[in-house]
Amino acid sequence: MASGGRRDYYEILGVPKDASVEDIKKAYRRLVRKHHPDANPGNKEAEQKFKEVAEAYEVLSDSQKRAQYDQFGTVGDMAGGGAGGFPFGEAGDMGDVFGDLFETMFGGGFGGFGGRRSANAPRRGTDLEMEVSLTLEEAFLGATRKVEIPRWQSCERCDGTGAEPGSSSKTCPTCGGRGQVEQRQRTPFGEFVSVNTCPNCGGRGKVVEKTCSRCNGAGRYRDRKVVDVKIPPGVDRGTRLRIAGEGEAGLNGGPPGDLFLVINVKVDPRFRRDGDQLHVDVRVAFPQAALGCEIKVPTLEGMQTLEVPAGTQPGTVLRVKGKGMPRLSAGGRRGDLLVHVTVDVPTNLTEKQKALLAGLAKEMDVSVKESQGLLDKLKGFFGA
Ligand SMILES: [Zn+2]
Ligand SMILES: [Zn+2]
Repeated sequence: MASGGRRDYYEILGVPKDASVEDIKKAYRRLVRKHHPDANPGNKEAEQKFKEVAEAYEVLSDSQKRAQYDQFGTVGDMAGGGAGGFPFGEAGDMGDVFGDLFETMFGGGFGGFGGRRSANAPRRGTDLEMEVSLTLEEAFLGATRKVEIPRWQSCERCDGTGAEPGSSSKTCPTCGGRGQVEQRQRTPFGEFVSVNTCPNCGGRGKVVEKTCSRCNGAGRYRDRKVVDVKIPPGVDRGTRLRIAGEGEAGLNGGPPGDLFLVINVKVDPRFRRDGDQLHVDVRVAFPQAALGCEIKVPTLEGMQTLEVPAGTQPGTVLRVKGKGMPRLSAGGRRGDLLVHVTVDVPTNLTEKQKALLAGLAKEMDVSVKESQGLLDKLKGFFGA
């Protein structure tokens, strides 16, 4: 079956057709991180992937769009599944014709097709997504960031009309001022007429004689806005924060979209993080582990004294309660710090240290190399 140029959104996100909303979100976050332009500077393929992923997510994350896509989205599905409600009956092998028709109808809001949306109806602005990188300390304490958001701004020079101030406008020659054009298409099923927004005037019915120098006739331009955002303590890599109303402006008086911040937490040289638990490695000398000692361990709030009990074995994990990461969902209640103890076996011993250890070995009745010679030395050191 010909594809008609449409890609399978499920394939792009690598999820099955019956994937849950949560699974779709997860796949999306993973792929966005992977193909993000910031992570792949100058990589055209990654950029293309990133766009595809965003497009797929936009459809599959919206239950209404997803249902529509499921029913009509790919040519293969339309032809193979009988496509409930599709007015063409047995479709046969008409992939390309279908693809074209589909584009025409979907794009133009063809009547009776779930396309109740008129060109002038208020529409909510698009959601925006940005990545914010934090250190582990910032994730621990919470942070504020100035985020620069690129977005559309209505052109104030031409009041959104696209016409250079002072220049006149004339009736659009393409649509004769109606703002809509009819498109006729012959198919084996008969002739179809679809009504589309005029591509020449964008539905306004008029074209300007001289386009606005600020927006090049578009009526809006790309702008950047700086938003102060507060990031709460406890965010983790992949956390998605919603900042309501800071997305793209709505169209025709619709509400603005939301801004989503995707958090990236940089790798810390000291601590490993596992949810709300932090892990840190410390080394103690062999006598310290055997006899017990107090050591200083790093926490995200400075050094802290920790009691290492006598007889601590290599690999022992000591728990410091409440010194882990705050939990976003638990009002900042904190996890624990887990201290992994490595016991250092001494190297480069002095003669005296060797003799002392040999004495210990003898006392413990374990065999070691050269113990007799060393014991003689021990006697020498202590005059015994
Ligand atoms: Zn303008
Ligand atoms: Zn026109």
